Amino acid sequence: MDEELRPECGSCNIEVRLCRSKEGSGPKFCPTKTKEKEIQAALEKYKDRETMRFAKAASLQEAECYVRREEKPFVMRPTKTRVEEIIEFAEKMGYQKLGVAFCSGLFSEGTTFVRILEKHGFEVVSVCCKVGGVPKEFLGLKDEEKVRVGTYETMCNPITQAELLNEAGTEFNVLVGLCVGHDALFLKNAKALTTVLVAKDRVLGHNPVAALYGARGYFQRLMNP
Ligand code: SF4
Repeated sequence: MDEELRPECGSCNIEVRLCRSKEGSGPKFCPTKTKEKEIQAALEKYKDRETMRFAKAASLQEAECYVRREEKPFVMRPTKTRVEEIIEFAEKMGYQKLGVAFCSGLFSEGTTFVRILEKHGFEVVSVCCKVGGVPKEFLGLKDEEKVRVGTYETMCNPITQAELLNEAGTEFNVLVGLCVGHDALFLKNAKALTTVLVAKDRVLGHNPVAALYGARGYFQRLMNP
């Protein structure tokens, strides 16, 4: 990749951005300006019928999360939790069989979510991360590399979680609190598209964005490594 053209949206300090407004502008590294060919190629992918239906439903769901949208000036009034969003999105898509891959550390939350989905009429296939009961020695981990040093510990097994949901033919999957990396392996191996209900953060009550809110305050160690 031409380094000059490397996208750096993370360094964009434009007030009215080109990617949000026709009257906006972008810095020299702005991919909206420099990546026209790649953008067109990506847009072609949406033309697949099912992809277009999915993308449209996602954008409809996005809008429907707000009320009083017709008022001018528009003031954001979001009303839906992510649990409700997932239910509504799955209904929009006409899905009947959903997969839930949950972390054993969030067993209670995972099972609550499964019950909620069932109450909304979905057939749910759920798989806990410890499925298979495979000892961590399988990964070559030593006793001192376990959470509870020196004990029998089974490994998180996201590839099996994905394969069992693939085998069950789930139409859409939801992750509940899989660890960093385990989530990535699940996403790589699952056949159905997958969304995330819970992103694990053991310190922040599974609300990882709180570290970003506090990055110039109590979490300044993140900015000053
Ligand atoms: S696409 Fe362009 S305008 Fe939008 S955030 Fe990225 S650099 Fe800024």
